Amino acid sequence: MTVYNFCAGPAMLPPEVMKKAQAEFLNWQGLGVSVMEVSHRAKPFLAMVEECEASLRRLMNISDDFEVLFMHGGGRGQFAAVPLNLHQGDAPGVYIENGIWSNGATKEGAKFTQVESLNIRTDNNGQFDIQPVTQWNLPEQASFVHYCPNETIDGIEIFDVPKHNNAPIVADMSSMILSREINVDDFDLIYAGAQKNIGPSGLCIVIVRKTLLERDGLPRPAILDYAIEAKQGSMYNTPPTFAWYLAAEVFKYLEANGGVPKMQAHNQEKAALLYDYIDTSEFYSNKVAKHCRSLMNVPFWLRDDSLNALFLSEAEKVGLVALEGHRLVGGMRASIYNAMPVDGIKALIAFMEKFAKEHN
Ligand SMILES: *Cc1c(COP(=O)(O)O)cnc(C)c1O
Repeated sequence: MTVYNFCAGPAMLPPEVMKKAQAEFLNWQGLGVSVMEVSHRAKPFLAMVEECEASLRRLMNISDDFEVLFMHGGGRGQFAAVPLNLHQGDAPGVYIENGIWSNGATKEGAKFTQVESLNIRTDNNGQFDIQPVTQWNLPEQASFVHYCPNETIDGIEIFDVPKHNNAPIVADMSSMILSREINVDDFDLIYAGAQKNIGPSGLCIVIVRKTLLERDGLPRPAILDYAIEAKQGSMYNTPPTFAWYLAAEVFKYLEANGGVPKMQAHNQEKAALLYDYIDTSEFYSNKVAKHCRSLMNVPFWLRDDSLNALFLSEAEKVGLVALEGHRLVGGMRASIYNAMPVDGIKALIAFMEKFAKEHN
């Protein structure tokens, strides 16, 4: 039975990459040992790391104005790192809130710096919606403006990029990095935990404008210090070597398969199939306004919540796993990152149709 894994994270990875990792698990590059067992300062590892960064730079078209860092601590590590590195004078950190993750970033930020948060959710009548970027009332004074382009739990995606005339724009791209084309120059700091579209957990990608490394910020642990990490080639301490290696393999795989433009088309096709089915069904619903529906995380609700447990167990029987919604929002959620094939979506829709018929 083919299993389709809809987990929100750690999420499914391209089977081709997993097979390659398996094949070279015990003997990486003919060294007779695993990539996990070599020094991060050994030549083959350093060569891998260099190519990994070059590959990501090509995929995202990242200019030399930016450092690319491979850090520890996942997305949440950056919730702390951002204010610690970017805090400036009396200016507050400005946080845009449109869901559970951006709210988490705000709360963490408030431990370290003065925070001004802007709630841009405009839910009404059970419909989830957001204010368009052009209507956000961003304060003139800000150390930085933080937002989350894809709210993984709420299923809300912001497709436009905010602008500020002096404060850097910081984006938590944990659940949408490499899923669609973006212009990196529109941002000043991008971060993403790896475990959704990139590789195993434990690694976090940080793309930071070099000029920001000159800020004093606040006293902080060296492992969260962008300038130190940049200077040390992301090896101030032992990096998560296996996760880094697997990320490099995923980047290689993406480059060999049409890069981000191809992924975007693939993701748009999958999301359209699933949302269209949900919208035409009387049995299922999605509560997010159409203009801000996530391409990566599709929450949906059954008409009758008492069928949730049965839906999940029946789905699992046919190989459709990890569809349970986040405990904070309930219902179901299909996370359909880059690695999810169109066939996975078709199998899910076929199952949903059958289940709806049987329980109508
Ligand atoms: C998953 C996720 C995180 C958290 O990442 P951790 O690696 O668990 O710290 C942060 N932000 C967003 C938007 C996420 O989807």
